[in-house]
Amino acid sequence: MLDINKIRADFPILTQKVNGKPLVYFDNGATSQKPKVVIDAIVKYYEEINANIHRGVHTLSQLATDAYEVSRGKIQNHINAKFPYEVIFTAGTTHGINAIANGFASILKAGDEVMVSALEHHSNIVPWQMLCEKTGAKLVVIPMNEEGELILSEFDKLLSDKTKIVTVNHISNALGTLNPIKYIIDKAHQFGAAVLIDGAQAVPHLKPNVQELDCDFYVFSGHKICGPTGTGVLYGKEEWLRKLPPYQGGGEMIATVSFEKTTYADLPHKFEAGTPNIAGGIVLGTAIDYLNEVGFENIQAYEHELLEYATSKLLEIEGLRIFGTAKEKTSVISFNIDGIHPYDIGTIIDKLGIAVRTGHHCAQPIMDFYKIPGTIRASFAFYNSKEEIDIFVEAVKKAKTMLS
Ligand SMILES: *Cc1c(COP(=O)(O)O)cnc(C)c1O
Repeated sequence: MLDINKIRADFPILTQKVNGKPLVYFDNGATSQKPKVVIDAIVKYYEEINANIHRGVHTLSQLATDAYEVSRGKIQNHINAKFPYEVIFTAGTTHGINAIANGFASILKAGDEVMVSALEHHSNIVPWQMLCEKTGAKLVVIPMNEEGELILSEFDKLLSDKTKIVTVNHISNALGTLNPIKYIIDKAHQFGAAVLIDGAQAVPHLKPNVQELDCDFYVFSGHKICGPTGTGVLYGKEEWLRKLPPYQGGGEMIATVSFEKTTYADLPHKFEAGTPNIAGGIVLGTAIDYLNEVGFENIQAYEHELLEYATSKLLEIEGLRIFGTAKEKTSVISFNIDGIHPYDIGTIIDKLGIAVRTGHHCAQPIMDFYKIPGTIRASFAFYNSKEEIDIFVEAVKKAKTMLS
């Protein structure tokens, strides 16, 4: 089991006061806090081995390159990719999705279909709309129900030989729904479509197994799993990464360059143009080690407890409605209180030291579905506590009294 006091002591920011009150950080869906080991590893990199990678023969460059590749190996093991070169370092989920959407521009033709879901983050909608504009392909949307679950019978009907790629999130950032991605991947493959999974909200809670899932692409951000901002991972099956053109041109991604013809570097470098976030990439490995030490089974069990506890406490508040009541969901609670704008509650509880997200959560289509401008979203991590939930619930009650 998880020793919550020990865990909390790993995160320096959790002792901060905000507006004179102890910080209650429930905006983990937007970004996670960083444990001391990760912060220290960033400093250590710059103090001891900072150099550019893959370029010099000198010792520091070799040390930095080795550390970067060790981290790639850690990520490979963590997600169970078959080869290290199937792991591409990116700047984050958005970068990974754009790289693949851009690559598909060379494959799609007018009349082909790109399928997204009603539950997507804007990052997993807009790049595909841009792709459709470029190629004449059509964007098709898997609908959702009131509970915030995808309607699989509709998905089945939408699939056809025209479907070239299906792209869905593993877990919805706005509602917390855990999507049946194995079903979606297998079904899409029966029609020869590729599948990209946006794992940004899943990796903080579970360890994806890309070979078992058999997805073609899996993308996530480092900053949502205790790593630095500006880091991320694009996993792609080797055959796809070979088939797709590079996303960006530049240094590091070439084999030879002349003005007549440039040949591209082998994987993974073909997709890693320019000097990357070296410290960030290395430290992402440190963050993954840390999470594995805590243990994903412990994380899941504990977060589930927090979710149940907070859900029942919040539902005692009259006029409070939770959006996203899927049977399978993670520790995200999106809610509104009758007649009160979410932003007003967010502002009042911020004064009490509580950080939640208010608004559409980069998922406007979901808000349109429910015909609301936005919600208040409390998203819990394994370093949150029941005491914090009590403080939060009291604050929401207080805000409600003030605003009604
Ligand atoms: C956060 C998030 C993204 C975008 O991630 P960035 O780190 O901003 O690139 C995409 N999809 C989902 C589901 C997310 O939660």
